[in-house]
This record gives sequence, C-alpha cells and structure tokens, in this order.
Amino acid sequence: MSKTSKIEAMAKAKCPRCRRGNLFQNSMYGLRSQKMYEVCPHCGLRFEVEPGYFYAAMYVAYAINVAVAVTVGVATYIITKEDKSPWVYIIAILIASVLIAPFNFRYSRVILLHLLSPKIKYNPDYDYD
Ligand SMILES: [Zn+2]
Repeated sequence: MSKTSKIEAMAKAKCPRCRRGNLFQNSMYGLRSQKMYEVCPHCGLRFEVEPGYFYAAMYVAYAINVAVAVTVGVATYIITKEDKSPWVYIIAILIASVLIAPFNFRYSRVILLHLLSPKIKYNPDYDYD
C-alpha cells in the first residue's frame, strides 16, 4: 500500500487529510463552473472548517495574482523594449489574470488547506485505496 506525497496531493488537488479524495467535482478548464465537494468523498473531512473559511483563500489568490502580474510586467518590458505605452502592460497583465483565474481559484484553496491550515493534518490511516 503506497502513501501519497504532499506535493502529489497538492498538484492533483486532493484532500489534505487522506490525500485520496478530490477537492473539486470537475476539471480546471471546463466550461461549467468549478464546484468543490463539501466533504471529502474519501474520508469525509469537511473542507470548509468554519463558515466563510474560504475567504482566506482570497489572500492567497491575491498573492498569486501579484506574482503573475509582476512576472508578466517584467516579461512585457523585456519583449517590447521600444513600446512605452502603459496600455501594453495593462492589457498583457489583464489577459494573464483572466487566463490563470481557474488555476488561481483552485490552487489558492489547495494552498490554504494544505499549507495554511494547522488544524487539518495528514492522517496516513485514511490514505488507502
Ligand atoms: Zn479526505
């Protein structure tokens, strides 16, 4: 019986306690809206530990967005050295933000549950097929 690593569980958006159950009901870039399971389909952990818990994920999403905006801004500067119009930067950063939004929504919650929630701990007893 093999145990799931934390990195693998985070990359695949799995439950932080059992690392087996999915956090989300559908795929990241689908046409339907992203839905999260209320409780883990594998171990029954309630993901929203307290009411409004996922508001905290907004701060994580904000940090990811700032990192992407800075990266895209620097890349835009390197690519378009001659063009100094601020609109080039605004449009490039807006497009990048929209494109990463589904990724951001998902992984801000994954990071919150896996790295920033001391009450939720990995329990190998639940990590079985
Ligand atoms: Zn679980």
